[in-house]
Amino acid sequence: MTEKESLLGKTLTELQQMVKVMGLPGFTAKQIAEWLYAKRVTNFEQMTNLSKNARQQLTERYQVGRLAPMKVQESVDGTKKYLFATQHAQYIEAAYMPEDDRATLCVSSQVGCKMGCLFCMTGKQGFQAQLSAGEIINQVFSLPEFDRLTNIVYMGMGEPMDNIDQVLKSLEILTAPWGLAWSPRRINVSTIGVAPAMQRFINESEAHLAISLHSPFNEERKNLMPIENVYPIEEVVEMLKETDWSKQRRVSFEYIMFKDVNDTPAHVKGLTKLLNGIKCRINLIKFHAIPNTPLEGSSTEQMTRFRDELTKKGITTTIRRSRGEDIYAACGLLSTKELVKKEK
Ligand code: SF4
Repeated sequence: MTEKESLLGKTLTELQQMVKVMGLPGFTAKQIAEWLYAKRVTNFEQMTNLSKNARQQLTERYQVGRLAPMKVQESVDGTKKYLFATQHAQYIEAAYMPEDDRATLCVSSQVGCKMGCLFCMTGKQGFQAQLSAGEIINQVFSLPEFDRLTNIVYMGMGEPMDNIDQVLKSLEILTAPWGLAWSPRRINVSTIGVAPAMQRFINESEAHLAISLHSPFNEERKNLMPIENVYPIEEVVEMLKETDWSKQRRVSFEYIMFKDVNDTPAHVKGLTKLLNGIKCRINLIKFHAIPNTPLEGSSTEQMTRFRDELTKKGITTTIRRSRGEDIYAACGLLSTKELVKKEK
């Protein structure tokens, strides 16, 4: 038996096409969207203002597509790491991070990742599958703490720009009036700098953008992140300089600090030169050691010095608090390698 198609992840336009094919009145599409996204129902029987015929047809042809998390691990700092299955029995992780009056969910956009960054567990897992828009937003909609969420970051497993169609679709659902109706300013999407898809993201979404930088120098960045061979960082920064960031939309740079690799005065100088003329923030991130990597994290003192030097040069720089390290939920540690389905 083939699995029924999921409705979660369909845009209003797609729902309109669907109801037309089913011979249902046009307004049914909006009603379905409201049940799916505003009311977050988990089955068709709960869609009580739909006709019996509509509910029956939907039940025969589709599934809602909501999948509850399979497992949760909780850190001493309150971070929770959720394991979700995908529709095709692959696995992804999402990290929920409550803090004072904020609660952020870090979502995955792919199962594994093909970008091979030297410092990342997901990169070491390799690539298994793209997530559909429905599988991306299921991490949000099926989160037990959904009602407390204030922010979403696309910084989990995978490179969002390598799955740009589904990522843009998921952002549309999260922000459209017929969807979750969130402000795009509550969402931050991260990339290592896949330039063409990044340009599409800039044009088609109003969410914030975070670039994983990690070094201002080409050869060094190539060692850390193979993407530098294809899209050099100057090209990426040039594109950002041509973008209008004035309307509340933010660009930030993520910078993981590696001892004696990218934490020297030359790097402060290199960063200042590279980012000259662009209004941005740098977030310094502690490196969490992973197996089979020659890299070590910079000390807290070194990170503080580095932040102060950059601040003196006029670049807003913060040290991002590390969350969930003890449960492998922190930056660069997400992996479902143990659960990966063997390729046929
Ligand atoms: Fe992929 Fe991001 Fe990890 Fe690089 S850092 S391997 S892009 S998940």
